[in-house]
Amino acid sequence: MAEPRILILGAPGAGKGTQSANIAEAYDVEHVTTGDALRANSEMDISHLDVAHDTPREFMDRGELVPDEVVNEIVAQALEAADGFVLDGYPRNMDQAAELSEMTDLDVVLYLDVTESELVDRLTGRRVCSECGANYHVEFDQPDEPGVCDECGGELIQRDDDTEETVRERLRVYRENTEPVIDYYDERGQLERVDGEGTPDEVWSDVQATIDAAT
Ligand code: AMP
Repeated sequence: MAEPRILILGAPGAGKGTQSANIAEAYDVEHVTTGDALRANSEMDISHLDVAHDTPREFMDRGELVPDEVVNEIVAQALEAADGFVLDGYPRNMDQAAELSEMTDLDVVLYLDVTESELVDRLTGRRVCSECGANYHVEFDQPDEPGVCDECGGELIQRDDDTEETVRERLRVYRENTEPVIDYYDERGQLERVDGEGTPDEVWSDVQATIDAAT
C-alpha cells in the first residue's frame, strides 16, 4: 500500500512525540506536529483574528488551545505536502476532528493510554534541549552531565508550559476538549488502544505491532 496515514492521540505527556519520531523513521513518513509548528511560530501576529490574544505564545503559555483557524491552516498545508504521515497534537477538539475528516482519510488511529498522576510526574519533570529538542527527565531519564544534552551539548531547559500550574490547566483543557475526540474515534471503531505506561521501548514495540496489524 501507499505510505500509511497515522493519527496518534493521547494526553499531554503520554509520549506522542517520542513514539511519533519512532514511527516517522521506521515507516518513512512525515512527522506532522502542531506543538512544534506553533513553538516555531509562537510570535506570529494573529491580531487580525477576533481572538483573545495577539500571538500563539500567549495561548500556549497559559495552557490554552491556539485558535482553530491558525492550527487548521498549519495542518492542511503540512498534509498536502506529505505522502504518508504521523499526525501528533491534532485534532484537539471536535471542530478540528471534523476539519481533519475533510482533509484526509486515516489508516490507523492510535491512542496512548496513561494515567493522570503519571502524566503530571512526566510533564513537570521533563527537560528539553534548547538546541536539538531531545527530551530528558529529572528523575527517570537524566543526562550524563546535569543540564547538558547528551546528543549535542545544548542547554537543557524546562518548557514554559511544563510548570505544575500550566500542566494542570493543559490536562483540564485535554479532558474537556480532547477526550470527546478519543470517544468519537472509539465509537467509529477506529481507535487502537496502546498501554503508554511502559518504558519507551516497550511502548514502541506495542505501537509497531498495532500499526503492522492494522495496515
Ligand atoms: P504540545 O507540544 O502538543 O503539548 O502543544 C503545546 C501547546 O500548543 C498546547 O498546549 C496548545 O497551546 C498548542 N497546541 C498544539 N496543538 C494544538 C491544536 N491542535 N489546537 C490548539 N492548540 C494546540
